[in-house]
Amino acid sequence: MKSIDIVVPCYNESQVLNIFYNAIEEVVLSMPTYKFNYIFVDDGSYDDTLSILKNLAKKDNKVKYISFSRNFGKESAMYAGLKQSSGDMVLIMDSDMQNPPSMIPTMVKYIEEGYDCCGGYRADRTGDGKLRTFFTNRFYKITNKISEVNMPNGAGDFRLMTRKMVDAILALSEVQRFSKGIFSWVGFNTKWISFENVERAGGVSKWNFFKLFSYAIDGITAFSTFPLKIASILGFFISCFSFIYLIYIILKTLIFGIDVPGYASIITINLFIGGIIILSCGILGEYIAKIYLEVKKRPIYIMAETNIEENNDKK
Ligand code: UDP
Ligand code: MG
Repeated sequence: MKSIDIVVPCYNESQVLNIFYNAIEEVVLSMPTYKFNYIFVDDGSYDDTLSILKNLAKKDNKVKYISFSRNFGKESAMYAGLKQSSGDMVLIMDSDMQNPPSMIPTMVKYIEEGYDCCGGYRADRTGDGKLRTFFTNRFYKITNKISEVNMPNGAGDFRLMTRKMVDAILALSEVQRFSKGIFSWVGFNTKWISFENVERAGGVSKWNFFKLFSYAIDGITAFSTFPLKIASILGFFISCFSFIYLIYIILKTLIFGIDVPGYASIITINLFIGGIIILSCGILGEYIAKIYLEVKKRPIYIMAETNIEENNDKK
């Protein structure tokens, strides 16, 4: 009998956890030929998430949980869940019912057909603001163009993967994880199926515009060094332009003599070049910060509590 682990990152999800569990249980019961396990990761919630998980674990021994010492973010929660998983297939799912449980049988079917991964993508973005949709679309266009990975627009972390693919993902040990990129970077055959965007069953989204913006910058810098090239290219063109302008100024001075007025042009050029220099430093800084955080080799998460028995090496 093949086993499927369902990894569920949870951050302050007390309002939806029971609804989620009941909905999944229905699907689990309809697939008796598979052995299911839940791995709930409580990402440092400060509501009743952990006690709800403990209750679920009491009445259902399929329920495993890991509780972090503080909030480490969804990326860390997913990594912890994958690391503790041992099933032949692993499913990553949000706890807020935005990923339809009814898709699980179809996903399993595709894996049985030979795909290594079956992922869901949101067919539409109803419910998201216009500005957010606009920037999200830009993000995917730009990132897919300049990076070595291809991330389908609308694809999230909702996906079922084979053990082979999970092991490949775990082998990428970077501390600052950008899963959308990592999933794509490891390769493997992926089948995409669409689902409709629905409102979360309760509670609130943990994202705001600023968080998403900095997540986008992280995504770009994690999988592309193109921004560094932008700095060089800008520098090159500005140098060429400056050289031509320099010759023009020298000739003008030789022919027409010294021309004192010129305050406006000097200020404009100074500001422009200054802006470019600061921008370039900023781009460099993004990468240096990434190196800095990686070389410290801090653990991706710290576990405070779990009901999973010591099996594989834990981080
Ligand atoms: N999540 C998490 N840690 C965080 C933020 C979110 O584990 O720091 C979980 C959250 O509980 C949910 C999933 O990640 O199961 C998606 O979060 P959310 O619904 O807030 O994101 P959205 O659907 O709005 O993109
Ligand atoms: Mg959600």
